Amino acid sequence: MSRLISKQDEKILVEAIATAEKNTSGEIRVHFEKICHGDVLERAQDVFAILKMNNTQLCNGVLIYLAEESKKFAIIGDSGINEKVSSDFWDNTKNLMQDLFKQGKYTDGLKQGILMAGEQLKGHFPYQKNDADELPNDISYG
Ligand code: CA
Ligand code: CA
Repeated sequence: MSRLISKQDEKILVEAIATAEKNTSGEIRVHFEKICHGDVLERAQDVFAILKMNNTQLCNGVLIYLAEESKKFAIIGDSGINEKVSSDFWDNTKNLMQDLFKQGKYTDGLKQGILMAGEQLKGHFPYQKNDADELPNDISYG
């Protein structure tokens, strides 16, 4: 469980993921952890692999990773996304989330981040007819 978000908030986030995935074939996931000791991007890459997020046809999974007590978070995409976008692609989404987190608005920050990620991916990975939900929309905890 998370101390930052309630069960009710979790539902809001799962809905936001479903909404975002109506814009894009990209697959978005959110993972919470208490502590991240090392580099947050490296840890996010590890979690990405642990959650088997590289199992998408277009290699377009996106992970939003948060380490609650360490107050660190990251947003990373799979190789299919990285091949198409510049390295600062996620900066706007990250900044928006950071601003809301600073105000203590964790659920809102995550929700806005998820929706913005969907909007951003739309141009590169539009939603496809007969789209499959390749990765579960539920929030995971480690
Ligand atoms: Ca999908
Ligand atoms: Ca999904």
